Order: sequence, then structure tokens, then C-alpha cells
Amino acid sequence: MSVMQPRHAASPPRAAVYALPIGLLVTALASLWALAAPGGIPGPAEAAALVPPAAASVQELPAIEIESAPVVDACADPAVSAALAAGNDSAVIASFGGAESFRASVVAGAAPCIALDDPTHVWVVVNKVRRLSPENYAPASVASSGLTATSRSGAARRDVASALAELASSAADAGAGRIGVNNAYRSYTVQVRTYGQHVRDQGTASADTVSARPGHSEHQTGLAADIIACARSCTDIHSFAGTPQSDWVAQHAWEHGFIVRYEDGHTATTGYVAEPWHVRYIGKELAEAYHAGGFHTLEEFFGLPAAPDYVG
Ligand SMILES: [Zn+2]
Repeated sequence: MSVMQPRHAASPPRAAVYALPIGLLVTALASLWALAAPGGIPGPAEAAALVPPAAASVQELPAIEIESAPVVDACADPAVSAALAAGNDSAVIASFGGAESFRASVVAGAAPCIALDDPTHVWVVVNKVRRLSPENYAPASVASSGLTATSRSGAARRDVASALAELASSAADAGAGRIGVNNAYRSYTVQVRTYGQHVRDQGTASADTVSARPGHSEHQTGLAADIIACARSCTDIHSFAGTPQSDWVAQHAWEHGFIVRYEDGHTATTGYVAEPWHVRYIGKELAEAYHAGGFHTLEEFFGLPAAPDYVG
């Protein structure tokens, strides 16, 4: 993984104002004027004549304010609304001028049409303080990735399933071994069962560190998958860390549109202990920006508050 520090969530204000005192400007212009005067550099007397009588009056004038790119509503661009209407996330991001520009606009509050709580988009952020809406949301359709699945929840949203297949094939080509899938899409109902089982096994407090409450799981969006290492047979998620597959995924998942969502050392932000097996699809464009920016959580990426625990 990159050793870069995450960019700070708050971007510098986009409407930075550069003020140049007019006195300074006049002095600079006068110097240029003097240098450009016929006959070369004038003597002191000539210079005094050439320099306009400045100081006393101009100092009272207000500073010139030159505004750089003001905060504009990026969503006012018809290309953005057209791409959103078409449900084409890649095109939306492209219409912002690329993923980093998209991210910066969202963080700066300059993209009101981009809803980070809309589970139909790759930029949705679901965590302990951001419940899915509707709570029982289900993707329009899910498909098998073709990978060996060790549960009945091996399918994912169609685009995610093909990205997962691509990731696994790339890992195998790189000699990292075979990747299978344990859980990908889990419906609200399945999540009720999964979380309920954890609560029964270990109590609520402990269950909350390893399993999402129903309506708070990325698995319900169809964008997440718990992947596993397979040889002749597949192992389980808890055996994934330290495998060649896990190391490869940590370094290369972004190339296929995924991030490792719950990294070691970021529990205070994500609310989850490290899960090297849980990959979340955010699309190739955003994943590339996430990697390039050295981010470790989606919360930081989009300038959102940490989500260490449920509210209430
Ligand atoms: Zn998971």
C-alpha cells in the first residue's frame, strides 16, 4: 500500500482571494516603465520624473481583489445532469473533469446533485452513522461473478460481479493464487439473520465490531464482497490475511475498482476492526483517485465524519 498520508478531508477553499496592494502594483509598474524607457536606465532625476506621483493618494485606494475559481455548482453543467439521468456513474465522474475533481467538488459542497447516501451509485457511503435509505434497499439485479462461492450469497451487482471476476483473474495471472468469494450481496433479510447470529454468539457490543446492523451493511448495496483464498479448496475470511491473495489485493484491488474498506489502524474512523477480505467497489475512476491520494477510508475520501459507532 502507499505510504502517503491521506489528504486532509477539508480541501482548501476554492474561492481563495488574492489581494495585491495597489501601491505595490504601482511601484512594480513604475520600475518596468523606467527600465523600458528610451535611452536605457534613466538617471535618478529622470527616474523621479518618470515615476508617477504615487504613494500618498494610491495608498488610500482599496486593494485589488482577484478571485480565483469561485465555488460553482458543478451540477449546473448539463453534461452532469445528463449522465446522472442516464445512471452512468463513470460519465458523471468524467463530466466533473475526473475522479479527483469529482471528489474535491463533493468535499467542497459544490456538488449538491451527488448524494453520498444514494445506494444506486458507486459513491454511496454506508457506515454506522449512515444508514441505507431505504433501509431495506436492494439492487435492481445481482449476478454471479463466476468465482467459487462458499455461501449462497456469492452474487454481486452485475458490474461489480464482472469487476470481481477481472480482479481474480488478474491476481491469478500475477501468480497470487486463486480468489473465491464468501459473501457478496446480502439482502436486508439475510443481514437481519447474520447480525442476529453474531449478537446471539457474542453480545451486541462485540457483534457491532464485526457485523453491520441491518440497513448499515455495504453488502446490502451489492457493491461489497468478502473474498477468500483458494487452492484446491477455499478457506474462510479469517484465514485471508497474510495470504499471497490478500497481499496482492491490498496492492492491486484499486486497479479493478475496489478498495479494502476496513484497513488495519482505522477502526476509529470506520467502526470496524481490520477486514482485509472485505472489498468495496467504487469504480475504477474513484478507486484510482483513492489510491493516488493515499486514502485509507471512504469517510476521509469524501470528507465525512468518522463513524466509530452507531448513534443511539
Ligand atoms: Zn464484508
